[in-house]
Amino acid sequence: MHASALSFAASFLAAAVATGDTTAVLGGRVFDGTGFVPRDLFIRDGVFVDRLDAPPDLSIDAEGTWIVPPYAECHTHTFLTGPISVGNSEEFLRSGVFYAASMNNSAGMAEAYQAALPDGPRVDLIWAHGGITRTECHPVPLYRTIHVRWQGGDPDTFMSGALGNVFHIADTTEQLEAIWPYVRRGRPDIIKTFLLYSESFDRGADAEHKGMDPVVLRRLVELAHEEGKRVALHIETGRDFENGLECGVDVFAHLPYDFARTPEADWGSMRISPNAAARAAERGVPVMATLSLVTASKDPTSPPDEPAPGFAVAADNLRVLKEAGVTILVGSDAASPVAEMNALRETGVFSNLELLRMWSIDSPKFIFPERDIGSLEPGAEASLLVLEADPLAEFEAAGQIRAAMKQGEWIELQAATD
Ligand SMILES: [Zn+2]
Repeated sequence: MHASALSFAASFLAAAVATGDTTAVLGGRVFDGTGFVPRDLFIRDGVFVDRLDAPPDLSIDAEGTWIVPPYAECHTHTFLTGPISVGNSEEFLRSGVFYAASMNNSAGMAEAYQAALPDGPRVDLIWAHGGITRTECHPVPLYRTIHVRWQGGDPDTFMSGALGNVFHIADTTEQLEAIWPYVRRGRPDIIKTFLLYSESFDRGADAEHKGMDPVVLRRLVELAHEEGKRVALHIETGRDFENGLECGVDVFAHLPYDFARTPEADWGSMRISPNAAARAAERGVPVMATLSLVTASKDPTSPPDEPAPGFAVAADNLRVLKEAGVTILVGSDAASPVAEMNALRETGVFSNLELLRMWSIDSPKFIFPERDIGSLEPGAEASLLVLEADPLAEFEAAGQIRAAMKQGEWIELQAATD
């Protein structure tokens, strides 16, 4: 583990917290997706421009810094209530994460988030709202546990509060057609759904480790695409990955993984074949690694150099996907995208350049494909992070943020108190 990796920078450039209509950022090295090039940046009305016709309102000396586009978190559940979301938004911004995707949440969370945050910079989110699953399948038992055990709720009132809110049920295509207008009315930005052990989705008593009928998933993808919505799929096996591709999903919300952490997990069934990886690459379907879930499953009493169960398979899958040319996205499904980056580094599969591309270009563009972000070129939204050292030399530098701008405004990021 890299315990000290990517810690929050304590010193932000307070002097830079001022905003003019036009700004010049002079003398920095600017990330262009392939490396850093010395280049001045000019900003007018919140976007990068080629040059300014008059002296800038504000001029920042960025000599000796490295400038990158802000980062993204493609799989989070941390924006769950108004007050918690305020803290999470601040913490995300502090670690340079400006964009996030809420991959399953109760209805109304998007409004609660907007309402709770003060005016000013905040993390830009897309919301899946309640995902679509099958009766008593994942994540129904998980939400019941949260409701009863963690929130002290009444088991008898669970379903009335949760159904149509944190999840929707569609066992058949007829049921799906019936609930679809209701799902649409919630205006999700992306549709979340679940395949678990789809090779035997209707067999065995352990519904909590199962998910959708692939036949229903295929229809769901059609309905979502008619609305111009993308479908994000939870998976657990290599077969789920193949079935998801067959059904036409737009993104995998995980690598195949035994999330239930069964002691006798069949890791072999979680391998992605080179053929399947090639099909994903051909169709342009990216994959979120959610690798910090894997590293978090490690028994703390086991030897420090012993990897978490399934880590080797996850790393192999990442290697297969990378070799096929599949885009890997940064999504933790846990509290911290920073921990996710550390877990990705631990695999040894990716170079620092690949990690930086993933975090600052591919992941932001996945979340908001219609926005010109993940770029420091003229025309793009003027959002950037000023780093104190070269992240291609030492990736820890990606977390050493001296100053940050969001859509043309320097943002004041309170240093973490430590
Ligand atoms: Zn998740």
